Amino acid sequence: MRADRRFGERFDTFYLVLVVLLTAPFGVDSSDVLAREAAGILGEKTAWAMPWYSVEGEEPGPVVFLTGGVHGNEPAGSYAAEQIRHWPIKAGRLIVVPRVNTLGLTAVTRWFPPLEEDKNQRDLNRNFPTIDRELPQSPVAVALWELVERQNPDFVIDLHEGFDFHISNPKSVGSSVIFTNSVRRASLAEKMLTAVNATVDDEERRFEMLSRSGAAKGSLVRACTDRLKIDSFILETTYKDQSVSLRARQHRLMVSTLLLELGLIDHDCADVVTAQGESAGVDVAIYDSAGASSKGIANLSRLLGRSDGISVVRIGPSDINVKVLKPFEVVLFPGGSGSKQGRAIGEEGREVVRDFVKRGNGVVGICAGAFLCSSHYDWSLRVINTAVFNKTIDIPGVGRKSMWYRGTAQNVQMELEGAALSILGKSGDVMVRYQNGPVISAGKATDLPMYTPLAWFRSEVSKYEPQKGTMINTPAIVVADFGKGRVLSVSPHPEATPGLESIIVNGVRWAAGHATLSED
Ligand SMILES: [Zn+2]
Repeated sequence: MRADRRFGERFDTFYLVLVVLLTAPFGVDSSDVLAREAAGILGEKTAWAMPWYSVEGEEPGPVVFLTGGVHGNEPAGSYAAEQIRHWPIKAGRLIVVPRVNTLGLTAVTRWFPPLEEDKNQRDLNRNFPTIDRELPQSPVAVALWELVERQNPDFVIDLHEGFDFHISNPKSVGSSVIFTNSVRRASLAEKMLTAVNATVDDEERRFEMLSRSGAAKGSLVRACTDRLKIDSFILETTYKDQSVSLRARQHRLMVSTLLLELGLIDHDCADVVTAQGESAGVDVAIYDSAGASSKGIANLSRLLGRSDGISVVRIGPSDINVKVLKPFEVVLFPGGSGSKQGRAIGEEGREVVRDFVKRGNGVVGICAGAFLCSSHYDWSLRVINTAVFNKTIDIPGVGRKSMWYRGTAQNVQMELEGAALSILGKSGDVMVRYQNGPVISAGKATDLPMYTPLAWFRSEVSKYEPQKGTMINTPAIVVADFGKGRVLSVSPHPEATPGLESIIVNGVRWAAGHATLSED
């Protein structure tokens, strides 16, 4: 049945020329009605149901089958696949199953949760047919294998992540391209490696080609290679010390390189990032890299992601460019370290954010993000005219101390007033979580308008004597216009205070220019 594979193993140096000149042989059989399915759900009405999507180009071309999230503790592949399924496919067909192990992704586990106790079946990526085993194991593998056979792709790409960089720790396959060697596959892998490694400065984090033993027996990629003779690859990033946005970018880079090479797309799509989920009113890009606390990112992604009409994507310094930010209306900088965020983005990135806001979009800074928004530091965004109480003071008997630090998280009194009701949907006195957010005063920038306070601290936190009295009755939440856009700077953490979460949800909608108020 597969004897007539259109590429077979006869790849030679003319391959690239052929891809360009002879697109017809790659065409999908137009009599194949199933091939025209635009989308579907595997295992519909089961707990593990997974959606799949198919995008067909106008021109004939190869069929590429892309999967992510087979291992639930490797989110970037799933994340990237969800973005890639929105790419503009010009030729051939792209089939994407972004969340193969839906339950595992939710539970953040490598295993398929219902079979967690079964050592032989819990790893979905060992459930597929092998040379000695004709049938896939477990319902998920059966359903996915059926889809692969039905769609009859020319290429299968499975996105994964390793726990460490293979180049420095051979125990992990992190940051590699894995396949069973052939001249054609090696040539394509080489191109993906070259593209991704051009963005990796650290020698210890470079991607490698792993083609000696191929993908593990029982894996999807090995099964497709051995049993269906499909050119198949596992693309592995590394989750150690790297943000989801960076890993998803690396996946996008490799897949974009491959799809460009195969003619499915006609330009590099690594910067084509779509908000997650279905199209929504407000698309928010959350900064998730250096200086952003992982707890804050997870919390904010969850909070905004489940709010009506808001969709969320994570971005890092490499994503802060005009192309990536274009579909978004708000960029959000979470808690962590403002200076680390500002320095990671760099002056060029800060200018991109300023321009993004000026053109009518919004920026929201929470805690560290509010330090970042200020016009106080050489690393700050300078989108709102706030100065920050941060003197370094010699305290007798204690030593030289920086005044921004006030100790561990505590609840403080905050009064919401004035426009807070219409912008944030709240007014009056509340207790809010505070963790070293900026203590704000009027800045000295002559080119920025004065901010409007929406809330004030009515009690304070201090660790050192000179801090006493400096925080009470200072603005806790301030807003301002910047060009045609809006800035919301929040010193405390309403998103991490039970009952006050809607302050951030409403603030984000306001910053986007879509003010519909949510209640808690
Ligand atoms: Zn994996």
